[in-house]
Formats: sequence, structure tokens, C-alpha cells
Amino acid sequence: MPQYSDLLDNLERPFLDAVRNAIARRGLRQQDVANSMAAYGLVIHDTGISKSIATKGPRRALRLAEVLAIASILGIGLDDFIPPPIECPTCSGRPPQGFTCNQCGTARHT
Ligand SMILES: [Zn+2]
Repeated sequence: MPQYSDLLDNLERPFLDAVRNAIARRGLRQQDVANSMAAYGLVIHDTGISKSIATKGPRRALRLAEVLAIASILGIGLDDFIPPPIECPTCSGRPPQGFTCNQCGTARHT
């Protein structure tokens, strides 16, 4: 099973890097992002943004609604951050024809 540290490296870190890069590229202040998020009904202070995208120290976890709003505001496509599925050790993603893998639920009908 993947460890949390793997998830942080493979999922969160690239997204947070993209957020920081987009903010810098657009010359935005964190307050601008916080203001834009208010339009989505999300109350977050600029310090909250700062703590959420910090590279060091304890980080404030972003809620899903915040992730979606930030992605929309900054024009970041979330599809790029979805990792490929981890290969099932039982069926390797390819159960026998006509069977469903009991381990991962992958079905192969034809
Ligand atoms: Zn499987």
C-alpha cells in the first residue's frame, strides 16, 4: 500500500508547486487568491493560503472545495495530478476473461 509520504510527494506536492508557480507567474498576492475564493463562498485568510502552500513547517490541509476553487481561479487542470492506478498484485489490472478480481474489483467482460 502507498504510504502517506508517497501521497504527499506524488499528489500534493506537484499540485502545491503548481499553485505557487501560478501565483508567482500571474503576479498575484495571496490576498488576491483569498479574495477570489470568497466568490466561491470560501472564507480563507491570506495567512491561510500561505500556510496551505508552505514548503516548510506544518502545513494547513486544503479542503476539497478549496482545492477546486484554487484550481479554477489559477487555471490549473486537476487531471494532470491524478496518478495512474497502482497495479493490483493479484490480477495486474487484467483478470481472466469473464471474471472480476476479488482484490481490486476490476472486471473483464470481453
Ligand atoms: Zn485485481
